[in-house]
Amino acid sequence: MNKTILLHGQFNKFFFFILNFFFPLQCCNCRNYLPYYPVKHLCDKCENELYADICVVCQVCSKRAGLNNEAPYLCGDCRFKKDPPLKIISVAKYEGILKNLIHQLKYNLRENISITLARVMLDFLKLQKIQMNKYDAVIPMPISKVKKRERGFNQIEFICRKICGYYNIELNKKILKRKYHKKPQVALSRRERLINPQNSFELKKNSNIKGKSFILVDDVKSTGSTLYFASKILFDAGVSEVLCITLADNA
Ligand SMILES: [Zn+2]
Ligand SMILES: [Zn+2]
Repeated sequence: MNKTILLHGQFNKFFFFILNFFFPLQCCNCRNYLPYYPVKHLCDKCENELYADICVVCQVCSKRAGLNNEAPYLCGDCRFKKDPPLKIISVAKYEGILKNLIHQLKYNLRENISITLARVMLDFLKLQKIQMNKYDAVIPMPISKVKKRERGFNQIEFICRKICGYYNIELNKKILKRKYHKKPQVALSRRERLINPQNSFELKKNSNIKGKSFILVDDVKSTGSTLYFASKILFDAGVSEVLCITLADNA
């Protein structure tokens, strides 16, 4: 090994040792203390548990593939569909460690959570072997101005930036916008909330996106209606393909 690299590595270790002395690293999930080097944000036990739920899934409907199926995978239902409807894939079910991390992502402004979830998302995408760079841009699901003010930033944007960096795709935060609602979502009745996503989105004026294809990223898919209506407005403007990717599926 090159001597300078060796020295550099030792310096790094020393640096993290000192840093860890003052700011000890804890597992994002179980809060156990972590070794100071190499820097990680999940302990081995939690990481293994989280990754046990990640596998090859159908590229259209996210159905889990059997152990013998290789990526890229299309399930029996989706293989013969000529025009597959909306494509929605999720890293895993909204439960356990993933649920805990996403919950913290929303309500805790800890960067380590974003880093951890971005890495999980990237590992999931690499496993699926999707041809990511055929897409023109990645769009983070826009959040309302009120929510942005409450949280300070859109955490999904951070994860999108990592995806864009890895696959060399453009990040587009401008095309899709949330409409401004005076009444916050929680104040709406269940019926109102169910029909509300329909008019929640609008496109940036004069955006020429005909024939383009996009990846839309959100944290949790529940009924899928938000993703559906966000995609619909893109399709209505002539977009040829939308792939929705979420961290978790709460269906
Ligand atoms: Zn842990
Ligand atoms: Zn399928």
